[in-house]
Parts: sequence; structure tokens; C-alpha cells
Amino acid sequence: MKADNAPIIFWFRRDLRLSDHPGLAAAAATGRPVISVFIRDEVVEALGAAPKWRLGLGLDAFACALHARGSRLILRKGKALEVLRDLVDETGAGSVHWTRAYDPASIERDKRIKAALKEDGIEVASSPGHLLFEPWTVATKAGGPFKVYSPYWRAVRSQEVPEASTEPSRLIPPETWPRTEDPGDWALGSEMRRGASVLRPHVQPGEAAARAALDHFVDKNVNRYKDLRDRPDLAVTSGLSEYLSLGEIGPRTVWHAGMRARETGAPGAEAFLRQLVWREFSYHLMYHSPSLLNGNWRPEWDDFPWNTDADHPNVAAWRQAGTGIPMVDAGLREMYVTGRMHNRTRMIVASYLTKHLMTHWKIGLDWFADCLIDWDPAANAMGWQWVAGSGPDAAPYFRIFNPETQAKKFDPDGAYRRRWIAEGQDAPPETALSYFDAVPESWGLRPDAEYPRPVVGLDEGRRVALSAYESRRWRV
Ligand code: FAD
Repeated sequence: MKADNAPIIFWFRRDLRLSDHPGLAAAAATGRPVISVFIRDEVVEALGAAPKWRLGLGLDAFACALHARGSRLILRKGKALEVLRDLVDETGAGSVHWTRAYDPASIERDKRIKAALKEDGIEVASSPGHLLFEPWTVATKAGGPFKVYSPYWRAVRSQEVPEASTEPSRLIPPETWPRTEDPGDWALGSEMRRGASVLRPHVQPGEAAARAALDHFVDKNVNRYKDLRDRPDLAVTSGLSEYLSLGEIGPRTVWHAGMRARETGAPGAEAFLRQLVWREFSYHLMYHSPSLLNGNWRPEWDDFPWNTDADHPNVAAWRQAGTGIPMVDAGLREMYVTGRMHNRTRMIVASYLTKHLMTHWKIGLDWFADCLIDWDPAANAMGWQWVAGSGPDAAPYFRIFNPETQAKKFDPDGAYRRRWIAEGQDAPPETALSYFDAVPESWGLRPDAEYPRPVVGLDEGRRVALSAYESRRWRV
């Protein structure tokens, strides 16, 4: 039997914040010491290079935030159950708490750990916090999951979102701290084959930076969001995805900031809330159909003649942002240098890969998972399957984006393309040049080389994609 004041181990995962944290607020409210822990387990090891590197920055920022409040972040590497058992032994903790995760690998791991710890006599508590709505709490009238966005949006729009909790006034330290590993030894950025130093100036990790980004968006951009959110040449969107992905900001905080802006009459606020709920929808889909992550959501796509050779020269050209289509290459270079890509450009590069290059969306999804600092399993899979046509509520396959028409509409002065494509410019900007500092030498790319010719003509690519599609004679 553990003492009433036995410490609580709080196992942090993708919830690296102190406010709007229902689980942490509840743990602190018990008045017992809280030992914050992050475990580098197999779920962490499976991350792509850029998300893992970004996680390292997030952990540093979170450790500093805890330190400033007289607390600590304990880092341990290993299988989560073994680490937690060791920590329970070392500290005499009576409980282990965490914020729920919804991807299939985490669900399987968490269930297993919960059962084992309970068997050991340890109290286990999991809390919401990563989402506005638990995926199982939103259902159609017939009681099933939603497959189409608009009715999902209407269903959640009428629900109350609880106010975000404030930061606990105090996290009581344990009598003695357990040993922590050295974050320097973890080297979470070691898999970045490219210049992490090129990415670094583009990233402001941590909860305070997340709050600043939200405040900036509400002050400066929410009014313009509805009309201009599709313009990659303008910085109008919130830039919150990387913070939401690591939980450096809570979704309730973002939701209520959007609601307050709406109440003051900000014209873009409703559009922003609607976009935020796409994130929820992706989790709803992943929770109810975990195969969304690695298989066609619509099985009728299983025998579509997509190229599945990840080493195909056209795929290499796409990855290396040398397709010869400036709007596509600009987006891919933006991602390589900053770890982010504008949503409109994500759709354009994904459409080009899956349609003009007739390549399986999984190949694109994997590349994004390696390069994006805002990588999110559900949003990434939903985005790719939406563009490819194989997902729920997806764009019809025959709606093939023409990257040049898209560029004229959404980058009307060419500013975005000039920002990212150095070749052909007399005095390319730093952003465009930095791509060549970031890429591996083995790619042999130089800013003064000639800009590549299109690997596939736009008309030709469109024709091939449409004829493959029509040959399946599907009903749409
Ligand atoms: P804002 O426009 O300010 O939107 C606010 C928030 O709403 C975002 O931070 C995000 O959490 C959510 N959101 C907005 N649009 C979407 C959307 N279409 N789907 C899901 N959530 C959305 N988003 C990720 O967070 N991680 C990914 O790995 C990811 N991969 C994608 C892959 C493809 C092929 C596509 C088409 C989209 C992908 N998205 C992904 C969605 C979207 O592009 C990003 O969320 C958005 O660009 C982030 O910028 P922002 O924070 O400025 O968004």
C-alpha cells in the first residue's frame, strides 16, 4: 500500500505544456509530488528525421519551463513499461498519469502498460488534452463514425468545448529526484542528413513561443484569414501546427481564442475554427479506421496502377525539388529548409506526385513524415489520401490540379516561387540559396545551374493519369 502522498509520475508524450493540460492540472491538484518524465521508446524512435529533431528542441524548451518553476523533466530511454516500473521502484510513486494518444501504435502500447501497472498495484490515469473532442464522443445519428467533413463539422460546432485550464500554481517536487539522462547524449537530431543549422532559425520551440504565435495570429491575421489563407506568398495562417503536433499549445486554448475573435466580429474566425476542426476530423478518421495510416481508405484503389518504386527517377526528382515545375519545387524546397509547407502547396505537390507522376501517395506521405516539423500521423495521412482520391470525403481523382493555374491564382506575383527557386535569378534571396546549403552534397545541386526541365509535361501527365483512372471505369 503506497502512502497517500506518494509521488505521481506524469509521463509526457505529445503534450509538452503546462497550461490547458487537464491531466497535469488534475495531478497537481492532488497535492502530491509530481515527477515529469519523457521516455524515448519505440514510438519515439519510429519518428522521421525532422519531427525527431523538432521533438529534441521541444524537450529542451519544456525542461527549461519546468526548471523555471522549481521542477524537472526526467529523461529515460527504453521500453516504456520497463522505464515506468523502474521509476516507480526508485521513487515510491503510487500512480502513473498521461494524456491520451490516438494512433494505433500508442493505443496498443498504452493499453498494455495500463494493464501491467494496474496488476502491479499502481494507479493509472489517462486524460484528454490532445483534441477538442474525444473521437468516440462524436457520432452520426445512427451512432457510427462520420466519413464526411461537413456533417462532422456541424455535429461538433454545436458542442461545448470546456475552457482551457490554467497552469498549475505549483508542481510539488519529490523528496529526491530520480536520475535523468543527458539530453545531449540523446542527439535526437542525428538522423537529419541535411543541415539542421539551416532549419534552426525558422523554429521557435516551446509553449511561450506557441502562445506568441497564437496572439500574433489573432492580432494581425485572423481578419484576413478567410480571404487569404490559401496564399503561400503571404504569412496569413497561424503557423500553429507544429505546436499542436507536439502539444506545446492545447487545442482548447486555440479554439477559445478563435471563438473570442469571432465574438468580436473578426471575419476570418469562423473559417479558422473550421480549419482547426479538420485536425479533429483526421483523428476521428484515424481512431475509427486506423488503416488510414498505411492503406487506401477506399479499398477499390488497391489495384490502381500507381508507381510504387520509391527509387524511381521521377520520385527522386520530386524529393529533390527538381521536377521543373516551379510551384511544386518551391513547396518542396520550403519544406526542406523550414520543415513546414503551406497547405495550398502541400495539396499542389501531393497532387503532382499522385497524378502527374502517377506515384503512390504512401511514398509522398513517407517523405513528408521525414521532413515536416509539424508532422502529425492523422493529418498527414488524411491530407495525402484526400488529395490522392483514396480517402474519405476526398477530392475526386479526375480533379487534377494544374500547378501553373494554381500558381497564377495563389501566387499571383510569383513572390513565393522567387522566394524558393534560385535558378534563373540574378540575385536570388537567402531563402532560395539556403536550400542548397541544406541538401546533402550527394544530390549535386547548385544554385547557378540551369533550372531543370519538367520531368513530365503537365498535359502529358494529366492525360496519363486520367486514362489510368478511366480505365478502371469506376463510378465516382
Ligand atoms: P492554419 O491554417 O492556421 O490552421 C490552424 C490549424 O488547423 C493548423 O495548425 C492545423 O492543426 C489545423 N489544420 C488546418 N488545416 C488542416 C488540414 N487540412 N488538415 C488537418 N488539420 C488542419 N497538418 C499537420 O499538422 N501535420 C501534417 O503532417 C500534415 N500533413 C499534410 C499533408 C498533406 C498532403 C496535406 C494536403 C495537408 C497536411 N496537413 C498537415 C494539413 C495542413 O496543411 C497543415 O495543418 C497547415 O498547413 C498548418 O499550417 P497552419 O498551422 O498555419 O494552419
